[in-house]
Amino acid sequence: MNFQFKIICSFSLFLRILSIFELKMLIKKNIVGALYTIDGRRVIDIGYVFGKIANIRHKPFDCTFSDLVLTGERKIGWYSEFHFTCGVCKIKETVESEDPHKSSMQVNLAAVTGSINAGQGYSQLYILTAVLNMPNMSNCLYQKLHEKVYDFTNATAWESMSDNKYKTVQYKTVSKQFFDFERSED
Ligand SMILES: [Zn+2]
Repeated sequence: MNFQFKIICSFSLFLRILSIFELKMLIKKNIVGALYTIDGRRVIDIGYVFGKIANIRHKPFDCTFSDLVLTGERKIGWYSEFHFTCGVCKIKETVESEDPHKSSMQVNLAAVTGSINAGQGYSQLYILTAVLNMPNMSNCLYQKLHEKVYDFTNATAWESMSDNKYKTVQYKTVSKQFFDFERSED
């Protein structure tokens, strides 16, 4: 009796898993029409993207990234937002190419800063991105960020100068202490 009960339980569990799987497949088929074709290369923050993908889980079907269908991409220069819709429960997910709230330099500003520091301009950046087969930023965005680079470089230079000044004072103080110590030893 107990053995029969176990068989019935296992069979009903198998049917339940099968029905969830079939249901997933059935619903997923309906969303394939909204598929977005993506190609080319992107610059991504690999740690951020992997973390974001790993945290995707929907209840009650336990949907993961493999259940999502790419439905669109929003591009702002080198920065991208990938829009997905869950093929099972229709929940929408967005995976950005990097953390949009991070305090350090964003990818577009980094690209412009790198370009300026290498003695290049918008035309060279345009050619580079074309060869790499990746989206480029507009000339308007480049010029806007160019202004920011000036402010950023100016602020960093002042910060660096005041830091060096502080270090020089520190060095002089330590040297003087060492010199005084050596004199007292004589
Ligand atoms: Zn889902």
